Amino acid sequence: MVSTALQDKPRTTGKRQRLAKPELLAPAGSLEKLKFAVHYGADAVYIGGQKYGLRSNADNFSIEEMRQGVEFAAKYGAKVFVATNIYAHQEDLAGVADYLRELEDAGISAIIAADPAIVEIAQKAAPKLEVHLSTQQSTMNWQAVQFWKEEGLPRVVLAREATMDEIREMKARVDIELEVFIHGAMCSSVSGRCVLSNHFTDRDSNRGGCCQSCRWKYNLHADETSIAEVDQNLFTMSSKDLCMIQHIPDLIDAGVDSFKIEGRMKSIHYVASVVNAYRQAIDSYMADPEGYVLRPEWVAEIGKAANRPLNTGFFYSVPGAEEHIYEAEEKPAPYDFAAVVTDYDAAEGIATVQQRSPFRPGMEVEFIGPDGRQFAQQVGEITDEDGNALSVARHPLQKIRLKTAQPVMPLDLMRKRLQ
Ligand code: SF4
Repeated sequence: MVSTALQDKPRTTGKRQRLAKPELLAPAGSLEKLKFAVHYGADAVYIGGQKYGLRSNADNFSIEEMRQGVEFAAKYGAKVFVATNIYAHQEDLAGVADYLRELEDAGISAIIAADPAIVEIAQKAAPKLEVHLSTQQSTMNWQAVQFWKEEGLPRVVLAREATMDEIREMKARVDIELEVFIHGAMCSSVSGRCVLSNHFTDRDSNRGGCCQSCRWKYNLHADETSIAEVDQNLFTMSSKDLCMIQHIPDLIDAGVDSFKIEGRMKSIHYVASVVNAYRQAIDSYMADPEGYVLRPEWVAEIGKAANRPLNTGFFYSVPGAEEHIYEAEEKPAPYDFAAVVTDYDAAEGIATVQQRSPFRPGMEVEFIGPDGRQFAQQVGEITDEDGNALSVARHPLQKIRLKTAQPVMPLDLMRKRLQ
């Protein structure tokens, strides 16, 4: 759902100051997600290694998987960044230099770091690795950006709380790359400055363990001894998710160098759909800024992957009470990821797909591919690889053959309609 507030925001602010093509930077929680992110149009992906990152529950990459990811991304001209953005306790620092050398050797282009100790160790131990300042440093003014430039950093990932005007001023005053979150979850505290998770579950948000306790459902009690609830309604403390698909011209004109999508824990379908939509919007604007028109199918594509209300975060104003989620507003996603295309027999018009969730004949499905290719159809007869007819594709990863209404390609996705 796109909020009214989002739709009402200005689309441009007038004169363009800069038209260099920004990087589209996507999350990749696993090697498979990395491949889909790059295939669907990401210029770069950010991943977590098995140490020093902030998503300890993602399927973090081994060094060997990083090598494979770098090799795959290079075929598309894409880069791989690694998050090493914990705030380190003393004990965490042992081994950082060796680890960063391993990343450098694996072909990683940059690390994303927050702790000045890790920044300095990287600069000395692995000089071929770029160091990007993490959003965990909450950078929101040009003097801080200038400081990090003087420390030798080529890029700063801004706080989600930075406004469009602040971004414009940073870009005007400091010659440095700015990376900005343009889509995904927000923290309901100032990003990263939260200990709810630590308090409730002993899982440290700043060492990769956030359990998203802001999204839990809470009751309100009159006082700590009362068991009578003041309000029977459960409430949450999370904010709406960020979505800037309607403001691509503004972001490019402000000078944002890298458009960052949040969500290393998100599904392949989510990453592919969101990257696909932003890829088309960015390319369309860069090809013809004057004639640019926001296409409804890009917004619709985002809606097919999202199940939380969306807004524009802090870009245009400080989010008010209406941008908060008090009640459980998460709805089931309208589509569910059903299969990945692995092969297509053009002569017979039959695709081989790998099952990712059960589907059966008669279901309404959509096939999607890079560059906005998509079509809907009803599933007809399905068979296994030996040609045996099936009443349902129920086994995860099973190869299934079915006729498609249009040609498809490997790595296209099939999603089933739920509502
Ligand atoms: S619990 Fe919520 S507000 Fe706190 S760090 Fe995690 S996501 Fe952010």
